[in-house]
Amino acid sequence: MIAVLKSGTTDKQIENLSSWLKTQGLDVHLSRGSEHIILGLIGDTSKIDAELIESLEIVDSVKRISEPFKSANRKFHPDDSVINVGNTSVGGNIFAIMAGPCSVESEEQVMEIARAVKAAGATMLRGGAFKPRTSPYDFQGLKADGIELLLKAKKETGLPIVTEIMNANHLSLFDEVDVIQVGARNMQNFELLKELGKTNKPILLKRGLANTLKELLMSAEYIMAGGNENVILCERGIRTFETYTRNTLDLSAVPMLKELTHLPVIIDPSHATGVARLVKPMAMAAAACGADGLMIEVHNDPAHALCDGAQSLTPDAFAGVTRAVRRVLSAISEED
Ligand code: PEP
Ligand code: MN
Repeated sequence: MIAVLKSGTTDKQIENLSSWLKTQGLDVHLSRGSEHIILGLIGDTSKIDAELIESLEIVDSVKRISEPFKSANRKFHPDDSVINVGNTSVGGNIFAIMAGPCSVESEEQVMEIARAVKAAGATMLRGGAFKPRTSPYDFQGLKADGIELLLKAKKETGLPIVTEIMNANHLSLFDEVDVIQVGARNMQNFELLKELGKTNKPILLKRGLANTLKELLMSAEYIMAGGNENVILCERGIRTFETYTRNTLDLSAVPMLKELTHLPVIIDPSHATGVARLVKPMAMAAAACGADGLMIEVHNDPAHALCDGAQSLTPDAFAGVTRAVRRVLSAISEED
């Protein structure tokens, strides 16, 4: 349920109404938008008398929210959320570009890639330290040592770092990580999501291989229900019957999610296609359809990458992608 308050409502009046609603067993979420002040009411609202609340002097209207996701719902928070990450942000007017290797392999590798992606305009460095591999015999990542190497690259380049968590027991290793990634395979690991909800770290939540947008939003809700509202959604392709591409990029997820939620939405064209030469056209399409950013795999020697070489761009190819994406962004901003 949301209560839209009249403009001019004072902080004291908001405080009084919120305290009373809390005594009714509800959680109250305040959103001060550019046009409205909205109180989002979370919990069992079935016994709440909507007409009584609507009759209050400061209340303009009361609406029940039918969707099961509340905190993530745009009706609770009409303005786009902007998630601050180190010296940059995701959402709003900033177009985020997260780039780096699928797996951190060595100090030389991650440093070389970090310098190159920074020079090409990346706003964050991504790299896998804990890798969710389909086969237990494949390289599983450098784990804690991988995080150390990412932190070295962060120190030198100033780029905030994004890396995946697979087990909540590892959380202490992520203290200096800027964005914690939840991979597609863990999108519905609810215990992990609950633990991440207790932190205040930005969480990059990737859509599961065969999950609906509603399920993605419910997973975001798990994190937000714990008090952590810093969630970034990522569409990374879903499993279909197509085999020429690794997955099928669902670009319509972007405008649909932007309607449903205030959370930023980014696209991962690397895992979505599995084919390096398809990354540029899909990155341009993502920018054109309103995505808030991209996550792209870049490797200094894709042919010898320990993981996902076929979809990894060379630093030069990545620079070509960022130039093309900037052109798309400036074309669509002129159109507005
Ligand atoms: C990744 O980003 O390296 C990754 C494993 O992606 P996904 O979880 O989308 O498969
Ligand atoms: Mn990968």
